[in-house]
Amino acid sequence: MSIMPQDFEINEPPSSSTVSGEQQGNSRPRKRKRRSTSHLKIVPESLDLRELIKSAAEQYVSQLPRERPFSKDELEAMSRDFLARNEWPEKYLGFAMVLLGNFFWKRQFLAIPFERRMLLLPHCLKHAEGCPADYDEFGLDCETCGACSIADYKVKAEQLGYKVLVAEGSPIVLKIIVEGYVDGILGVACLNVLEKAIDKVLLAGVPSYAVPLHSGDCKNTSLDEPWVWDVLDKYEPLPEPCTASYVPLMREAKRLFDEPSFEEIVPIVREGKASLLTKTEEISRFWLANGGKRFRPFITLAAWDAGTGGDLTFAEATEPLGSRIPLAVKKAAVAIEAFHKASLIHDDIQDEDEFRYGEKTLHLSHGIGPAINFGDFLIGLGYRLLAQCRCENDPTAIEDIVQKMSHAHIKLCEGQGAEMSWTAAPSMELTPVDALQIYALKTSPAFEAALYSGLRLAGPIEQYDEMITTFCRHVGVGFQILNDLKDWQGDGLNKVIIGQDAIALRPTVLLALAIKAANAEQREELAAILQDKHDHAERRLQRLRMIFEQTDVLQVAESLVAKSRDRAEAIADEVESESLRRFLYFLVDTVLAPEEEPTPREQAGLVDLIVN
Ligand code: SF4
Repeated sequence: MSIMPQDFEINEPPSSSTVSGEQQGNSRPRKRKRRSTSHLKIVPESLDLRELIKSAAEQYVSQLPRERPFSKDELEAMSRDFLARNEWPEKYLGFAMVLLGNFFWKRQFLAIPFERRMLLLPHCLKHAEGCPADYDEFGLDCETCGACSIADYKVKAEQLGYKVLVAEGSPIVLKIIVEGYVDGILGVACLNVLEKAIDKVLLAGVPSYAVPLHSGDCKNTSLDEPWVWDVLDKYEPLPEPCTASYVPLMREAKRLFDEPSFEEIVPIVREGKASLLTKTEEISRFWLANGGKRFRPFITLAAWDAGTGGDLTFAEATEPLGSRIPLAVKKAAVAIEAFHKASLIHDDIQDEDEFRYGEKTLHLSHGIGPAINFGDFLIGLGYRLLAQCRCENDPTAIEDIVQKMSHAHIKLCEGQGAEMSWTAAPSMELTPVDALQIYALKTSPAFEAALYSGLRLAGPIEQYDEMITTFCRHVGVGFQILNDLKDWQGDGLNKVIIGQDAIALRPTVLLALAIKAANAEQREELAAILQDKHDHAERRLQRLRMIFEQTDVLQVAESLVAKSRDRAEAIADEVESESLRRFLYFLVDTVLAPEEEPTPREQAGLVDLIVN
């Protein structure tokens, strides 16, 4: 499918990021509405009312189906219904969402052994004045002096076997879960933090139980302590999981790159030969096996599972799934990662990037020539892995996948080529459609290849061909725009310089939007910036920032992400297969989730330490 300019129509920024859509007649709507709940996070003032709402929430949830976790939008819709039925005001919406989430997950949370749980406590419970504890890389290192309630919870929870973190931020928590250290979260936090957590933790299907703080002002806050003890020391096993979760598949995607699985999928070929000949394979394999979120391999595994009925989303969180996934699917998933890693090596050279996964880029540590060669090796390795896939019942499947992969490669090179051409001679001849077309070429094909491969290995999928391409185009473009926005904030992981893309004068959509919206004076300044190749980086950044702010391009970019999300969701709405539709929603929510502002503590390295 070709990329049409009308797909990238740029509108004026909407008054809010609300995505409209008609709900359909199902009990669980396919089309979801997004709405900020930031002004609706009041905790009821009296304990009596809090207890009343809590027991009504338990009753309400007891009638809900539990096959799959609900999205944040569905939870909001249910919570509104719950409040309306009980004639409680809308201002308790955030509180009600937490309670409904709690009782949805409570039985499954209680079935998790203590040593597989995490207790997450907020900094603001500490005795601020006299607290002797320091922060370390895992958050506040409480010395259990007894001056605040953190010590009580921490001591008891650690005795039981919990991991305890005095930190905040759901990104950390989800990473810890995917790494396989814990299976469920007991969290104490204010409604602001809990609202952010809901998206990531609930969507992934992580059993969680939250106790809201009475206020979100981070001072003199309190909580209903008996609510913590409702679950902290209770353990009630269940015969089997009853709610779908992507955590087992996320973990399996990570496990593909751990031994012994990695050796089975990517056996060493030159072992025992002279070191001169083994070096390229050794370094390339190491690069493939280390670093990265494994998101593309996860897409392939989860797409295959969705195409075969979605059974693996009901696996035990701790269950290794290797024996339940065909080797061909695992090889295709690793091939996708090999192509991705190869493109990163080449991309880092072309963009002169210095860091990747918090380490020096390969061309800086080994030289440009060897780095190009490692990337080429990984491309060859990826195609070798595909050639090794065996689908006895469907001999054309691998042919189809190789074709899709090669298309993805060619599109990526075309997008990268267009970007480099413009960067070599930056000009005012850059429209937002140009920038978005580059994004569609550079980013979307990798998602498409990953999704297509998993689904195609599950069976013939002619009916989904067009859907996959269009869906991935919207997801990929939205993802890249989000990256642009993150470039202005720094993502705390790979980038050490904020505004790298802008400093390097890459053809980003932000720059293109600014060119489009600029008045005569701003156009003159932009043209001068583009011509002045020797301007100091910090000064160029300041000049661009001023114009971006004057032209409101960040807001327009956010509206474009919302539009990409809207369109991708509309495509998912039409998919008949429930397991596939559910997975597509999950992809939209995960890939296009607005990033949380990193806390100062996360910026100081907590995330780095856990993720990398
Ligand atoms: S119990 Fe821990 S967190 Fe609370 S004041 Fe003492 S050292 Fe600080």
